[in-house]
Amino acid sequence: MTFSIHGLAVSRGVAIGRAVLVASSRMDVAHYFVQPEQVQTEIERVRAGRNQVVHELQQMQHSIANMSPKDAPQELSALLDVHLMLLDDAELEAGVKRWIVERMYNAEWALTAQLEVIARNFDEMQDPYLRERKADLEQIVERILRAMRGVASPVAAPPRKAVKPAQQDVLLGDTVDVPLVLVAHDLSPADMLQFKQSVFVGFITDVGGKTSHTAIVARSMDIPAVVGARTCSQLVRQDDWVIIDGDAGVVIVDPSPIILAEYSFKKRQHELERGRLARLLNTPAITLDGESVQLLANIEMPEDAHSALAAGALGVGLFRSEFLFMGRRGHLPDEEEQFEAYKRAVQDMHGLPVTIRTVDVGADKPLDDSVHDSAHLNPALGLRAIRWSLADPAMFLTQLRAILRAAAFGQVHLLIPMLAHQSEIEQTFAHIAQARAMLDRRGQAYGPIQVGAMIEIPAAALMLKRFLKYFDFLSIGTNDLIQYTLAIDRADELVAHLYDPLHPAVLQLVASTIAECRKQGKGVSICGEMAGDIGLTRLLLGLGLRSFSMHPAQILAVKQEILRSDTKRLAPWAQSVLEADNPALLVGSGAV
Ligand code: PEP
Ligand code: MG
Repeated sequence: MTFSIHGLAVSRGVAIGRAVLVASSRMDVAHYFVQPEQVQTEIERVRAGRNQVVHELQQMQHSIANMSPKDAPQELSALLDVHLMLLDDAELEAGVKRWIVERMYNAEWALTAQLEVIARNFDEMQDPYLRERKADLEQIVERILRAMRGVASPVAAPPRKAVKPAQQDVLLGDTVDVPLVLVAHDLSPADMLQFKQSVFVGFITDVGGKTSHTAIVARSMDIPAVVGARTCSQLVRQDDWVIIDGDAGVVIVDPSPIILAEYSFKKRQHELERGRLARLLNTPAITLDGESVQLLANIEMPEDAHSALAAGALGVGLFRSEFLFMGRRGHLPDEEEQFEAYKRAVQDMHGLPVTIRTVDVGADKPLDDSVHDSAHLNPALGLRAIRWSLADPAMFLTQLRAILRAAAFGQVHLLIPMLAHQSEIEQTFAHIAQARAMLDRRGQAYGPIQVGAMIEIPAAALMLKRFLKYFDFLSIGTNDLIQYTLAIDRADELVAHLYDPLHPAVLQLVASTIAECRKQGKGVSICGEMAGDIGLTRLLLGLGLRSFSMHPAQILAVKQEILRSDTKRLAPWAQSVLEADNPALLVGSGAV
């Protein structure tokens, strides 16, 4: 039966595919496709894991049988019987095998996918005793996974792999690959990074706001995504057909043939539009009245530099270096590894500027099991970004040395996140001086850098005149600036309707920052999501912004807006927007 679920639109376009439900983080396992010749090994790995668990449970039963009747825990014995029965379940074995053979899932993925299928059946049972067996099933799957950990997969995660189609797949005319859509309750930015190399054509998560880091990574992957879809991961079943309408923030489950045809048409329209935009690749971003605009790229990993160049970016305006640090299970990248990563991005940009932001972890970008990970009440207000760096001088100095060394290979701009205090500014510069001195002592080459600050905390924007004198340039991080100005958690879908880039207070801070930088002749750009929103391009041009940094996928659409704009006409209009009680009405009307 067709039904739809509403969430937040975070990455545009239409995706149509079969749902892949990622199990809860309690059973977080690797998801990758295996090669045909590895299928048998994967089946064997699950079988070996299962057999080991059967053996363990039988041993336990044996020990219980040898106890005196007084000591033998009867309930445990009964529970072991249930677990052994579940381990013998033909549906579990056959299902796991099917996921591996037909879908080429790795063993752990197949096991959790089948768990999801059987768990649903338990949920639907009337008998409360049987319903409760779901917990037992989860326990035995966890046991098998643990047993399998001792038998690590010999299969490396390969890139895209064709998956055998089922009958219905032919409906889409897709006879070789079955497109897959990832459905999860939540995905950390580190998970997203892992999926970045993967096969998924779209993402849906139950939680998250429009500028949560999960949404940002989805956008950088340039695939349709919906976040904040509340109960989606409970309503969608493994392998259901789903449509993601990334423009409207809607998920359609089990679509009828008519709806499927309508969305297939919409998808093609998107592809045609992309084709049209591609013609602007080599067109300089100059407004109708001759103002030149710098379009820069936001990247997460050095290899993204390629997509930045391919999209016609004139540099990297934000390299979110923290993605090098995430999902490392405590093994943070050392100076050499970081140096190589930064150097690679710098060299791949062929002389264009690369703005490397020092690590910004914390809040919704935790470092898995690091000691810094915060379970604090307000992580967004806690030890994150520059605060985190200053709290760990050795780590900060390592990163600064790596960045300074990479600067010997091209134009590097150093960007510091979340500064607000005079003392933080002084400490930051002291660390930069110390990093240089260490490299001098080692006799190691490094290059000149420009140092800039992000404007993300209202306090920094409000004391801008004093703040600015320390820096060569500023970059406005509107994602956080909105969060902190309006006291709205950017990752919380429950308050997402209040997260408003056009709130008059936000616009005042953005406008005054741009104006002061222009007055003092300092560079200013926006690297938050506002920069890539084509609904806001004309307003930002009217406010005097001439440098925008965004995901490569957004660059051409923003360029198209710029080519159609006349800043002379936009400037007075932008002032009237600033003074309006409801700026969204003016911006949305399209009338200038
Ligand atoms: C921002 O806050 O706008 C920004 C660009 O930084 P991040 O999204 O990584 O916090
Ligand atoms: Mg930020």
